[in-house]
Amino acid sequence: MTRRDRGRRASGLPLAPTASLILTRSSANQPPLSCPVKQLPRNGRSERPIHSHCTTDPSCRSDKELLRLADQCVKCGLCLPLCPTYAQTRNEADSPRGRISLVQGWVNGDLAMTPRLAGHLDGCLTCRACETGCPSLVAFGQIMDGAKTRRVASQSRWRRALDQSWIAALSNPRLNAALGRFAKSYAHSPLARLARWLRLDRHPRLSPFFRLTGAIAVNARTRVPAARESTDIDLFVGCSGETAQGGAIAAAMEVFERLGIRANLPDTASCCGAMLRHNGFPDAARSHRNALVETGSNRPLVGLSSACVAELRESPELADAWEICDYLDRQPWPEALQLRPLRARVLVHEPCSHRNLLGGNASVHHLLERIPELDLAPMPENHRCCGAAGTYLLQQPEMSAALLANKLDPALSASPDIIVTTNSGCALHLLAGVQEAGRSVEVIHPMELLARQMPS
Ligand code: SF4
Ligand code: SF4
Repeated sequence: MTRRDRGRRASGLPLAPTASLILTRSSANQPPLSCPVKQLPRNGRSERPIHSHCTTDPSCRSDKELLRLADQCVKCGLCLPLCPTYAQTRNEADSPRGRISLVQGWVNGDLAMTPRLAGHLDGCLTCRACETGCPSLVAFGQIMDGAKTRRVASQSRWRRALDQSWIAALSNPRLNAALGRFAKSYAHSPLARLARWLRLDRHPRLSPFFRLTGAIAVNARTRVPAARESTDIDLFVGCSGETAQGGAIAAAMEVFERLGIRANLPDTASCCGAMLRHNGFPDAARSHRNALVETGSNRPLVGLSSACVAELRESPELADAWEICDYLDRQPWPEALQLRPLRARVLVHEPCSHRNLLGGNASVHHLLERIPELDLAPMPENHRCCGAAGTYLLQQPEMSAALLANKLDPALSASPDIIVTTNSGCALHLLAGVQEAGRSVEVIHPMELLARQMPS
């Protein structure tokens, strides 16, 4: 019994579900869990951050610090109704409270990092919906990122190198651009027909890649750099902006132009490092952000994708980065600039990054309300993650598909013409779902809709 449980029993409160209880409940037929120290290369708990040189990175915690964060959880369970994975499985180990207990048990040395335990932790989307309802202000995202970093640090060198290389490839703007070109030429090629004929696109391990390729083929655009001598803002499109929401880049440049804002679109795109950090590689993530800081200016940094902006803000030097709709909503709008009317039903998707980390997407509604006759509504189930969550849609395809269905089915029942979203990963995931449903709904960035309705 833990010290907290002794205190709760003394005060007549029900005992918190401990990590061992959670696993015993859900794994009655499993062999008993063994001490993790045997499996970890390091000798017991660490008093220092895993990477000694990155004491300021929230993803790189000492065990003591990780436990201090986790111990702030009072196990009240108020976060449970907010958690999409718990709603799906109804398993305590797939809830925020359960995951915190598992991290505590693992870091304390009471639980081994078995595939089953890893599965419960990996099942977390890091959507951070749980943080929004937590009365103890538990930094759940930092706990999960810290635990992931600890796990990765304990893996073999070759496994770390393998994992880091494919995530680094996904974070590389040039490779992303090449992927976009490939997807476009592949979509209608004999190769695609052959893959469909062989039913490779139905294979459980391959299907996430095929469905994303189909969405990228629609959304990818080659961007045209617009570096200028004298500019007002720097536009940040991220490593996958060109691939995932390519049309939004030119559209954003047009909207800026119409509002008299001189935007700088650099020759080379950069990465915020989010995918690397959430997968346990905070060093590599930080080097991406450092490169951005070194090449940066004093101009406002305005990001197209809400998840990238949330990630940029994790660095103190980039803490004032803006999400593009939030930025434009605060700019004066010329009286003479009247948008053309559009009779269309538009659902506004609110990504978790915008809702839980940037304070909500009211600015998207404000901007789109400038389009006369638009039938604008929030997307149903906006409070739930769509299941994209960075690399999650590739790593946990079943849960990702289930969460998408929960969200997309009621949305498609509303017969929208367009779905708008401010996050590039969500855009691809939603579009892939629309394609799978055989519907012809556009999934675009709000900037694309604004640019289309600009007067000629
Ligand atoms: S709401 Fe906060 S304190 Fe309560 S169980 Fe969830 S994480 Fe812990
Ligand atoms: S971050 Fe999201 S998926 Fe993970 S425990 Fe919290 S609410 Fe659940």
